Amino acid sequence: MTDEKPVHFIKQIIEDDIASGRWGEPGDRSIVRTRFPPEPNGFLHIGHAKAICLSFGLAAEYGGTCNLRFDDTNPTREEDAYVRSIIGDVKWLGFEWDGEVKYASDYFGQFHAWAVELIETGKAYVDDQTPEQIRATRGTPTAPGTNSPFRDRAIDENLDLFAKMKAGGFPDGSRVLRAKIDMKSPNFNLRDPVIYRILHARHHRTGADWSIYPMYDWAHGLEDSIEGITHSLCTLEFEIHRPLYDWFIDAINEGRSEPIHHPQQTEFARLNLTYTVLSKRRLLELVEGGQVTGWDDPRMPTISGYRRRGYTPEAIRSFVGEVGITKFDSVIDVGRLENACREHLNRAAPRRMCVLNPLRVTITNWGEGGDENRVEMMDAVNNPEDDSAGTRPVPFGRTLYIEREDFMEDPPRKFFRLGIGREVRLRYAYWVKCHDVVKDERGEVIELLCTYDPATRGGDSPPPDAQGKVRKVKGTLHWVSAAHALDVEVRLFDRLFSVESPARKPKDEGDDWDFKTNLNPGSLTVVQAKLEPNWRGESDPKWADGIERFQFERQGYFCVDCDSSDQSPVFNRTATLRDSWARATNKR
Ligand code: ATP
Ligand code: MG
Repeated sequence: MTDEKPVHFIKQIIEDDIASGRWGEPGDRSIVRTRFPPEPNGFLHIGHAKAICLSFGLAAEYGGTCNLRFDDTNPTREEDAYVRSIIGDVKWLGFEWDGEVKYASDYFGQFHAWAVELIETGKAYVDDQTPEQIRATRGTPTAPGTNSPFRDRAIDENLDLFAKMKAGGFPDGSRVLRAKIDMKSPNFNLRDPVIYRILHARHHRTGADWSIYPMYDWAHGLEDSIEGITHSLCTLEFEIHRPLYDWFIDAINEGRSEPIHHPQQTEFARLNLTYTVLSKRRLLELVEGGQVTGWDDPRMPTISGYRRRGYTPEAIRSFVGEVGITKFDSVIDVGRLENACREHLNRAAPRRMCVLNPLRVTITNWGEGGDENRVEMMDAVNNPEDDSAGTRPVPFGRTLYIEREDFMEDPPRKFFRLGIGREVRLRYAYWVKCHDVVKDERGEVIELLCTYDPATRGGDSPPPDAQGKVRKVKGTLHWVSAAHALDVEVRLFDRLFSVESPARKPKDEGDDWDFKTNLNPGSLTVVQAKLEPNWRGESDPKWADGIERFQFERQGYFCVDCDSSDQSPVFNRTATLRDSWARATNKR
């Protein structure tokens, strides 16, 4: 695996900071302190993986540190279950955070103390206006806002009211604490933003301790300051908030002899993927609406969905590295993520034979005049990309299964599979020729009658005939022995959405338009398949996350679903062997 590390603009900033000694001794690379700050209000998605690889990756590269910090300032939408899943996802992706997991809620006391300082220095005030009034007086992009009638309240009165807000003396929404900045600022974020609101809600960590909660904008930069973050990396939508974060820190520092740490925020473009929705709000809608089985449904673009689907952390990291870091929003072809996965699994996944849509085959000359039940063990290559993976024995007998799609009663010349009178190679076994079919009462073929050529053992070409002519086969098929095959459930996944930009509302649609109309009705097909026995090979690679991954020859990559039992394993298709969406002409 190659984790590509090109020099992007953020690395350039870090290099310059190290050279100039902005955060420490010039030349000291270990000064890099980054963080990943998820809000625990959903599972992480592939976009978050980009932010994770960036911040954790840079810290590791420079010998600095990266914090995992939960931005848990909004108790109404947050849950402990999300905290646990996020911790598991970051670990699975292969990253280690510095020290303990951190929580913004651990800093609530400090945030409050700094808010009191702002009131004391006349830079914050309690506003009694309703949320509607505050909204209505914010102005527009072209018109300035108007000052609140409470803006010039006496400092003592502000302190007193804020203390009562904290003590739970007022109902939700009746008052807020606002920073006194500039109602005429061209940047909306600076028009006296709300920094505290009253909310009588239980917090998943602080319980009922607080009746006021800090706004995200107030908390975010202060969290970075408390943790001594040097390079605070976030997505472009926060660029317009940066002046506010800077204002908060400068305002706190104005009244102090010991200034608090001032982090530097730098923004990068978020990851967008075709055929994919990346927004926790929308993903939650799918979970709650039952369109998927949960946040970890293998069709979801969540880290836990991809894990369950069989994607590897290596594949995700290599995809994110390849996409790179820029300042420009773009949409990446989801096929590139799928390809990164194929590329890793092609190198690493052991091969097996599994027939997804079985058609019975009887070898009529098997054990002729002798033992019809004879079983021969064939040597099958475990991974042609890795000689050290060796071979495994696969039983072959009189009755087999092949794919229904691999036979046509009346095939065109270009059909490189089996037909009556045609000969094919059964991989690692023998050449077989079909001489007859058995049909059911509806005329459907239910069994093929074939002969095998004992001179082709192992799938090798037979010697030339008396005239020196070499025989050729139409193609090579996978198969399993009917007497030995295991019945397994296989889930074939396809893209969750059938259009390239599923979240984009078409021009002619009204406000009630729903992105769920773009769901792909064929995103899940369940089949009962026949798998070769002893599918858990002794020489199989031990995957770090314990998930067993395979290539089923000619069918794609598959993994064992985490919810299935050893007695009845269920396989999830991770990816087809080739990108079938890229070549619409070649219909699956
Ligand atoms: P979403 O907008 O998808 O609902 P979010 O931004 O609300 O997610 P957070 O928990 O706030 O989710 O995100 C944590 C970090 O991940 C933030 O720093 C954010 O910039 C980053 N992030 C979120 N989405 C993406 C994305 N699509 N690409 C890159 N980084 C992202
Ligand atoms: Mg966001």
